[in-house]
Amino acid sequence: MRHLDCDVIVVGAGPAGSLAARAAAELGMEVIFLEEHLQVGYPIFCAEGLSLDGIKDAGAEPRPPIVSQEITKARVYSPDRNFVELSSTDWKGFNLNREVFDKILSENAVESGAKLMMNTRATNVTMDEGAVTGVKATTNGKTMRIKAKVVIGADGHASIIRRTAGLGRWFSDVVTCAQFRLGGLSLDEPDVNEFYFGSKVVPGGYAWVFPKSGEVANVGLGVRRIHKASPLEYLKRFVASDHRLKDGDIILVNGGITPVSGCIERAVGDGVMLTGDAAGQLIPMTGAGIHSGVVSGRIAGEVAAKACEEGDVSATRLSEYERRFDKYWGKRIRDSRRVVEMLDRFSDEDLNTLARVVTNEDILNLANGTAVTRTLTKIMARAPLGIIRLVSAYMRG
Ligand SMILES: Cc1cc2nc3c(=O)[nH]c(=O)nc-3n(C[C@H](O)[C@H](O)[C@H](O)COP(=O)(O)OP(=O)(O)OC[C@H]3O[C@@H](n4cnc5c(N)ncnc54)[C@H](O)[C@@H]3O)c2cc1C
Repeated sequence: MRHLDCDVIVVGAGPAGSLAARAAAELGMEVIFLEEHLQVGYPIFCAEGLSLDGIKDAGAEPRPPIVSQEITKARVYSPDRNFVELSSTDWKGFNLNREVFDKILSENAVESGAKLMMNTRATNVTMDEGAVTGVKATTNGKTMRIKAKVVIGADGHASIIRRTAGLGRWFSDVVTCAQFRLGGLSLDEPDVNEFYFGSKVVPGGYAWVFPKSGEVANVGLGVRRIHKASPLEYLKRFVASDHRLKDGDIILVNGGITPVSGCIERAVGDGVMLTGDAAGQLIPMTGAGIHSGVVSGRIAGEVAAKACEEGDVSATRLSEYERRFDKYWGKRIRDSRRVVEMLDRFSDEDLNTLARVVTNEDILNLANGTAVTRTLTKIMARAPLGIIRLVSAYMRG
């Protein structure tokens, strides 16, 4: 069996893993970076929306081919198909070419000195007296053992690192998504991302139309809780109900899982850290995880490097990463999760009423988990009694 040795192993070349590998390599660590697929960023499990700040925090530039479409507005539709429009003065966004974005982030890590091993799947962590000491991995049917001072699991929602290091099995709440990339469209407003709510369209989640140009769009949805049909079935119905989409050519079918129960309880152990989806670090209300993932990955890489240098890779030392991430992103994720739980109590009629009393800023805050308590207090001042009751139940916790 082949044996390798390094300071830091990063498992997974998604956005979180690439930023972790880059940060640790920039601080002089010997980094081995594993990706199970033959191509970074492919297959794609993403609607590809990202804010300008998210692109910047990833160390990328908002220009083609990283981005396919600039977004100047977002429209949020209530079940009765009224909408609230958010314009680009409040918000600046892009739809990416995710395979290009992910590839460039991994190349940045390699340029910083990380050694990327493609087609290499980590199968489990290796442990000694409760501390993680490396990983076992396979490539072309051959097994290898890689020793490291710190293992960073950036291996997505199903993380083998999380499960074999004993940091958690599965998430208590996930959204199951289905998505078509539709071509041959004639969209009048390709600079608008659309979001649709309503239990008939998509129980417990939302549907989206994210254009990549006037002709091509990612059209998908994610279901939660009780649903009577498969996500693909709901998606087919959604597409058939929209005259702009129903005759589009299906050029890609994908989907995936987004954990929305919030950050896992412990993202570090002795010699091990988890980042991105592996640690449940998505914004639960939107299922967006690229921005939080790149920030988390960078912090994880920095803390891993400092801990290696100091010769202390205990969970206590590595928990600096949890504290730094938690200060801003952890709070946003917790608050956003509480908004999900609050909206779970809303009927379609309640959502229609809520849509009539919210402003652009309110929607941004509730969706992103920012200033949630202040936003709900303002909404209560102008909402009818039924909504006040539902919101105040949330405020009481
Ligand atoms: C349908 C859908 C739409 C979405 N839309 C958006 C959106 O518009 N905007 C947004 O911000 N977020 C979106 N998300 C969420 C976003 O895709 C994730 O939050 C983000 O990709 C997380 O990045 P990551 O690096 O943590 O994990 P991932 O991107 O999942 O990367 C993990 C990497 O690890 C690799 N890997 C896994 N296991 C192993 C192993 N054992 N060994 C080696 N390699 C391994 C995988 O191949 C993968 O490359 C969406 C998710 C879904 C499912």
